[in-house]
Amino acid sequence: MNIQLLGAEGGVEARHPLTTTFLINGETAIDAGSIASALSFEDQLKIQSVVITHSHWDHIRDLPFLAINRFGTLAPPVQAPPIHLYGGDQVLTALQNHLFNDLIWPDCTRRPDPSRPSLTLHPMEAGKDLSIGPLTITPIPVNHSFQAFGYIVSEKGGAGKKSGIVISGDTGPTEELWKAANQIEHLKAVFLELSFPKAHASAAIQSRHISTASLSNEIQKIKKNIPIFAYHLKPPFHEGIEKELKELGLEKRVKIAKSGDTFEF
Ligand SMILES: [Zn+2]
Ligand SMILES: [Zn+2]
Repeated sequence: MNIQLLGAEGGVEARHPLTTTFLINGETAIDAGSIASALSFEDQLKIQSVVITHSHWDHIRDLPFLAINRFGTLAPPVQAPPIHLYGGDQVLTALQNHLFNDLIWPDCTRRPDPSRPSLTLHPMEAGKDLSIGPLTITPIPVNHSFQAFGYIVSEKGGAGKKSGIVISGDTGPTEELWKAANQIEHLKAVFLELSFPKAHASAAIQSRHISTASLSNEIQKIKKNIPIFAYHLKPPFHEGIEKELKELGLEKRVKIAKSGDTFEF
């Protein structure tokens, strides 16, 4: 499984402009914060499916541009196939009502042509696997505001080889995701959101994120000794979080993933 972390951030600043997007095997994205900013038109056209963790802006920011680019990059009459957009039912309804509503942005679920739109919506149910080519994506509810999923992504490789990763999505301390992940023998890595330093632990609790105050307890729930990559750092806190990981003695156990990093599992 090839993973390009197109955007690793939980916010935007000049040095940290790209918000959360994982691109798997060049075709399937988890979240869409930077999916247009980080990819050429040519690479955007290769994307077949986008799976959203939740509806917060840092996770959907580039979806409108991806959808519009879809029908702007090929000369008529050639049309790109629609992008399959997956997410919780409430998340997709929120996107339809508040973003793709012909007010904030064109309704790309009906345009350019209702019979061949840029986006087709596919609600996902908690715990019910989604199959996309060799990938199986399992949505697990996590502890965040509104409806939010973490995902376990597994891939069947050749010769019976399997690999799997966890993408936590935005979440405060959570249980169900780790219980499910601990059952997966072929799990190779965990991508864990980490948003705040200790000084902002109460903001992390209120907004349901992980901080360096809750991190040690959270990673103890991961039973397998596999790499843990932290992402979704809020840009003002990069240096503080890095310093505190060292103070906690966790700098080897938890690596900070950066926008543009690639992984092979
Ligand atoms: Zn976020
Ligand atoms: Zn969020």
